[in-house]
Amino acid sequence: MSDRPFDLVVIGGGPAGLAAASQARQLGLSVALVDEQPAPGGQIYRAVERAEAEGRATALGEDYRHGLGLVRAFHECGATLFASHQAWQVEPGGRVFATDGKASRLIEGRRVLVAVGAIERPVPIRGWTLPGVMSVGAAQILHKTIGLVPDAGVWIAGSGPLTLHFAAEIVAAGGRIAGILDTAHGRLPETALRHLGGVVRGWRYVARGLGYLARLRMADVRRVSGVENVEALGEGRVERVRWRSGGQWQEAPASGLLLHEGVVPNTHMTMAIGCAHDWDEAQKCFRPRTDRFGMTDVEAILVAGDCGSIGGARVAECRGRLAALGAAASLGVISAAERDRLAGPVEAEVSAHGALRGFLDDLYAPAAELCVPPDDVMVCRCEGITAGRIREAASLGCRGPNQVKSFTRCGMGPCQGRMCGPTVTATLAAALGMTPQEVGAFRIRPPLKPLRLGELAALADAEAGE
Ligand SMILES: Cc1cc2nc3c(=O)[nH]c(=O)nc-3n(C[C@H](O)[C@H](O)[C@H](O)COP(=O)(O)OP(=O)(O)OC[C@H]3O[C@@H](n4cnc5c(N)ncnc54)[C@H](O)[C@@H]3O)c2cc1C
Repeated sequence: MSDRPFDLVVIGGGPAGLAAASQARQLGLSVALVDEQPAPGGQIYRAVERAEAEGRATALGEDYRHGLGLVRAFHECGATLFASHQAWQVEPGGRVFATDGKASRLIEGRRVLVAVGAIERPVPIRGWTLPGVMSVGAAQILHKTIGLVPDAGVWIAGSGPLTLHFAAEIVAAGGRIAGILDTAHGRLPETALRHLGGVVRGWRYVARGLGYLARLRMADVRRVSGVENVEALGEGRVERVRWRSGGQWQEAPASGLLLHEGVVPNTHMTMAIGCAHDWDEAQKCFRPRTDRFGMTDVEAILVAGDCGSIGGARVAECRGRLAALGAAASLGVISAAERDRLAGPVEAEVSAHGALRGFLDDLYAPAAELCVPPDDVMVCRCEGITAGRIREAASLGCRGPNQVKSFTRCGMGPCQGRMCGPTVTATLAAALGMTPQEVGAFRIRPPLKPLRLGELAALADAEAGE
């Protein structure tokens, strides 16, 4: 199947993609939006229409319900939606290949906006591959989509706003958790002082964080701070959790363990396209190089939202609108002067909503032991490769992740390095005394997901006119 060329094809239906599609339609562009989920909303507003219809949205908070307005505006804007379609290849110039799991189709765009969001940073600790250990993000997906809440024996370990947000969300939904093992090692007063301007301007977000803490205190949720070296223990599944705090080892029974150490841009697509990427030392991740409208160095390809740089939902929404303005100007639909006039207020919003970012990045910077784990810790669970094997490959002369891949098969499994890529780069960089930018990342090649031959054949049939 091949679809008519659109002015703009947006990949990703989160706040960035939805706002970009609506803004582009307002400017008169024809727009298609491709998302692998059955309904628009992205990570934060996942299943928001369904939750609203089932009367669950209010319990998920006002921020969550903000997504309803975005989704409704998108439905009314006249863009074509390819829901439940996963984009598996994007070519420079604007050809997007996507599959609904049965057949692939080609969707052509004069411009393509990649708005595929963030992924959770890997948390390679001892025992993280045991059944019963999962990420906070995965648990939140279960809660938002089917209303599932953890039982009272489940621990949360990690740092970052999502850990507190999720714990507070569960308490509000009537769930219980065993406790939170807070691994943040940034000290709150000093960090706040260093970013005083941002903390003052971002006071609404600070107040929200304090509100989560108050809710957790009222629900008597145990919170252990200054936690290091979390380990999941058990035979066949997680049964206990162990950690160090204040120099003492402690252990507790656990029916589950939810891990989270912040999010990083999902760069697989932009890397496969061939966009230039830079190492962001503040956010400890790679991100695509763009101008202020999200234009990359590759013809016709733009980027917006958390896959460009972690900024949170409201910043993603603004960056989506800026990218739509950039796309429209590059197509000659609006002048550069008109683009800049319309961009002014949006950029002011970016600055307001992003004011707290420096503080958050500093306070919740991942601990060194998580970026560069000890030898016995599993890094690539698909191929069973430990951190020690990566160091061994470095000692044998491997100078980058792609050589490690050839030597060990690390990153060659079904996830194609999504889970292990950041750890491999950091571990190699530390072993070789190089920077992550010098070491680089896995080379990503399409298809971005495993495809069945039938899915590909449908594309060939369409091209042959059958
Ligand atoms: C697991 C997780 C949970 C989060 N929960 C919260 C939260 O509760 N509160 C909060 O404030 N922030 C949360 N965040 C951060 C928040 O998601 C972002 O700040 C915000 O959603 C970014 O918006 P976005 O439009 O850039 O990306 P997203 O909202 O992530 O949207 C990206 C969309 O792209 C789609 N996509 C990805 N790859 C493809 C592909 N190949 N083909 C087709 N579609 C694709 C995804 O399905 C998704 O719908 C979470 C992040 C993660 C990773």
